[in-house]
Amino acid sequence: MANVILFGPPGAGKGTQAKYLVDKFKLFKVSSGDLLRKEIENKTELGKKINKIIDQGSLVEDNCIDGLIEKIISNKNYSNMLIFDGYPRNINQAKTLDSLISKYNQKISCVFSLKVNHDVVVKRILGRQTCSSCGLIFNTFFSPSTKENHNCDTKYLQKRSDDNEETIINRIKTYDIKTLPILKHYSEQNLLCEIDGMRDISIIYKEIREIMHTLDT
Ligand code: AMP
Repeated sequence: MANVILFGPPGAGKGTQAKYLVDKFKLFKVSSGDLLRKEIENKTELGKKINKIIDQGSLVEDNCIDGLIEKIISNKNYSNMLIFDGYPRNINQAKTLDSLISKYNQKISCVFSLKVNHDVVVKRILGRQTCSSCGLIFNTFFSPSTKENHNCDTKYLQKRSDDNEETIINRIKTYDIKTLPILKHYSEQNLLCEIDGMRDISIIYKEIREIMHTLDT
């Protein structure tokens, strides 16, 4: 298999697509946001340090995340089977990822860049609900959890503390200023694959899945 990156603004659908791709291709998801939220949940020293920053919608310092990422990349069980969601988030992280990937003799095969308009992103984030039991992501406006599409009890549906109107504006601004410039880095490496993220989840998934089948390992 291959390591791939899901790139896009908050609310682009990276987590949703990652969940499907993990199941289909037996990949291991590396979500820096999930890793950081775990630290907060477990009340670690790092968790205490980053809590406020996440709730403000800014990026935590690179050195808070580098170690968590290296721990996963260095794990031989996941070698060339990683799907990155929300990482890298700035050009320094992209360079760190390049060196970690080469240090552990792996490669990145594709960067899927999900393109979504800002107004849609806001609505997707405000309506987002994640099931803490099965990991599926729903949206109260577009794709609510129902008995047909979700087996878990509704008590597991959770809203993220940073999914509010105030924080979203800063998260999108941070994305535009710090994260978007990474695209040039991957375009220069011929790794970029642009995906129209405004379409139906299943259509986007089908397109990514078909490209995944064509990737060199
Ligand atoms: P996400 O779950 O990817 O939307 O991330 C939620 C929040 O976690 C972001 O708004 C940032 O505050 C923080 N975060 C996630 N990934 C990173 C990263 N790679 N570098 C810095 N901060 C991050």
